[in-house]
Amino acid sequence: MAKKLPEGLPIEHPACLAEVTYRFAFDGAHKALPSDPNAARLRLEAGNRAFAELLDQVAASRPARLSIDIDPHDVGLLPGRSTAPKQQPFAAIVGCADARVPVELIFSEGPNDLFVVRIAGNGLGDDVMGSLSYAIDHLASLRSIVVLGHSECGAVSAAVDVHLEPARYMEIMSQKDLRQIVDRTLVVIQLGATWLERVHGAEVVRRSGYRTTLIEVAIALNAALTAHGMRPGLNLADRSDIHVVYGVYVLEERLVWSPRRDGTDWFGLAPAPRDANEFVAICDLLVSSPRIRGLLDPP
Ligand SMILES: [Zn+2]
Repeated sequence: MAKKLPEGLPIEHPACLAEVTYRFAFDGAHKALPSDPNAARLRLEAGNRAFAELLDQVAASRPARLSIDIDPHDVGLLPGRSTAPKQQPFAAIVGCADARVPVELIFSEGPNDLFVVRIAGNGLGDDVMGSLSYAIDHLASLRSIVVLGHSECGAVSAAVDVHLEPARYMEIMSQKDLRQIVDRTLVVIQLGATWLERVHGAEVVRRSGYRTTLIEVAIALNAALTAHGMRPGLNLADRSDIHVVYGVYVLEERLVWSPRRDGTDWFGLAPAPRDANEFVAICDLLVSSPRIRGLLDPP
């Protein structure tokens, strides 16, 4: 017999604890486009929370279902005929190519909602900037640009290993493309290492979780710095209708995280730092945050 959810929705397969359903709602029940950048950020955060809560239910051996309503127009469906939809995403996401971070899924979004650019280490190369320039200039629906790092990023980890053991740079000397990613990331790793020592003392390098901590600090700083680089790099000076935010998708929690000014850990996206002072403030918040402190001395 099929299991029943509390609200009485049947799960089709008795062994399946969670279902994500894409509901093509011809009745107009789909979500409207966010009207401003704040609404766009709130929608992304709510979608991510719904995804994380779905899988939290699974972890607790409880059945759960997530329904994502999709406007049939967004896949070219109109009553009686098919036609190419107009492209109208409300957010552009610059994410890592890592297969564990399926962008639409973790934000509970469907087709035509997100303009996604993915590249290992989510850095700002020419192709990324060109893609974003196109989106800003041609997609009037755009309200938010999100730089999304993720925990345990392989690109950042490779650069941290070069920082900790510079001789390992020899291993990537012949790999020009990989070397470019590592070179770009080394700057934020140096910055992260400096800040960890400044806040936790020079002996921090001997703590058992130092490598992991430095990786996670660098991932967050990389996302913040990349987000900062958007405004001067793109034609955004007069675009108050588009905000740039950043966050880190934490794989084991399935939530987007960023450090918070009150010193607590925070679920959600943070505004891009506007200047060096704000970036320094983020460095302080980050290396003092409960999540980062917890990584320094693992159980
Ligand atoms: Zn990655």
